Amino acid sequence: MYHHKWQSDVEMVLPVGKAVCVGRNYVAHAKELNNPVPNAPLLFIKPNSALCDFGPETAINLSLGEHHYEAELILLVGSKIDSSCTAPLRHIAGVGLGLDLTLRDLQTELKQKGHPWETAKAFDGSGCITPFIPVNMDTLEAGLTYQFWQNGTLKQRGDSKYMIFSMASLLTSIAQFFTLYPGDIVMTGTPEGVGALSIGDELKLQLGGGNIYCSRVVNQS
Ligand code: ZN
Repeated sequence: MYHHKWQSDVEMVLPVGKAVCVGRNYVAHAKELNNPVPNAPLLFIKPNSALCDFGPETAINLSLGEHHYEAELILLVGSKIDSSCTAPLRHIAGVGLGLDLTLRDLQTELKQKGHPWETAKAFDGSGCITPFIPVNMDTLEAGLTYQFWQNGTLKQRGDSKYMIFSMASLLTSIAQFFTLYPGDIVMTGTPEGVGALSIGDELKLQLGGGNIYCSRVVNQS
């Protein structure tokens, strides 16, 4: 069972809720998949059963198809954000990183049929989450950067200042449809550079100049 963790040894009291995810929040990523740049955030949800640790091993089940990584900045909700909330960043307790794993071939097929994406995006183990660090509104407004490496090669570099929808505006848009409760998370979208995972890949994630988290891709069975 997955539990949210702080990077320090401080005990996490927040439960594990839903993950609200954002598609196409960086212009260059929308273009690399030949998608139009949206004029409102494209939102989808992973249930808490999708979440797992970005730990020493990332297990994938290749019988489901090729798994693409999408490295994303993740906001941990500390207190309720609903549609009446005017300063949603005040309710964010922490930030972390994660992979929004995507069955890209299945997603393409579902998109072509006009069907929902859930099986391609919300399957078990599709949200791999690092520990969180506590943040306040000033830190979030100052902006955050992160990096993702696959087998030693820098594949993705994220910077909140290049988001199409800022963290604050994302939260406001999300709250029009989905009330965010303590322990929910928001996966804020991926920059360009997405690609497929292979068994044996060595993955690394780093938020700003902070801790580097490492994981190795293994076969799920
Ligand atoms: Zn994503």
